[in-house]
Amino acid sequence: MNTGSSFDLTGSGFTSARTRDRLITRLMAQGIRDARVLDVMRQTPRHIFLDEALAHRAYEDTALPIGHSQTLSQPYIVARMTELLLAAGPLTKVLEIGTGSGYQTAVLAQLAGIVHSIERIKPLQDKARERLSGLGLHNVRLRHADGLQGWPGEGGYDGIIGTAAALGVPSALTDLLAVGGRLVLPVGGTQKQSLVLVTRTEEGLRQEVIEPVMFVPMLGGVIG
Ligand code: SAH
Repeated sequence: MNTGSSFDLTGSGFTSARTRDRLITRLMAQGIRDARVLDVMRQTPRHIFLDEALAHRAYEDTALPIGHSQTLSQPYIVARMTELLLAAGPLTKVLEIGTGSGYQTAVLAQLAGIVHSIERIKPLQDKARERLSGLGLHNVRLRHADGLQGWPGEGGYDGIIGTAAALGVPSALTDLLAVGGRLVLPVGGTQKQSLVLVTRTEEGLRQEVIEPVMFVPMLGGVIG
């Protein structure tokens, strides 16, 4: 059985409510305050976004491999980025660059009207699609493309999240923000990266550095 395509949502043993609650307690101790984010993360089964051999580690606060040299982000950073996106009010339309396992996508889909998510590696996207529809999350549209090219014909996002590190803040992404919209993105090379929050105001873009992070790089082109 492959846990990536099975949906044991009740959880038992390493997926039990108690195990998940421990992760939420840990996130709160690390400063995550937004009750909407904590509730959604308590309810979202992270173990189905991993291969069976790693599923027992799903509720540890750590990044885990998902194949193709990519990782499912650490729960703390998923919570932090989601909290930053939500801080300005409810999200109607969100864009994610780097679907990966689909876990961050699933969290966002429960907090936003619609989520668009772009992934450059087709086999990862295929698995993510299966998991998201298995969870009944139908307000998600997935696209196999280079996210740095944006989403043709789309724009006016009130939230954009990048789950891979860009060398700078791409104007191709800030151009897609609505006024008042927020972009949360790791920026930097392989040695040093920072989580950056960019807000589009009537006057232009405002940029804040949030904290040091470590992500896989955002790359051009597509695979598969
Ligand atoms: N949010 C994901 C994180 C996966 S790691 C999760 O929780 O599982 C980052 C992902 O970004 C990888 O799957 C990688 O293939 C993807 N990625 C990197 N550069 C990209 C680009 N330019 N466009 C789309 N996806 C990209």
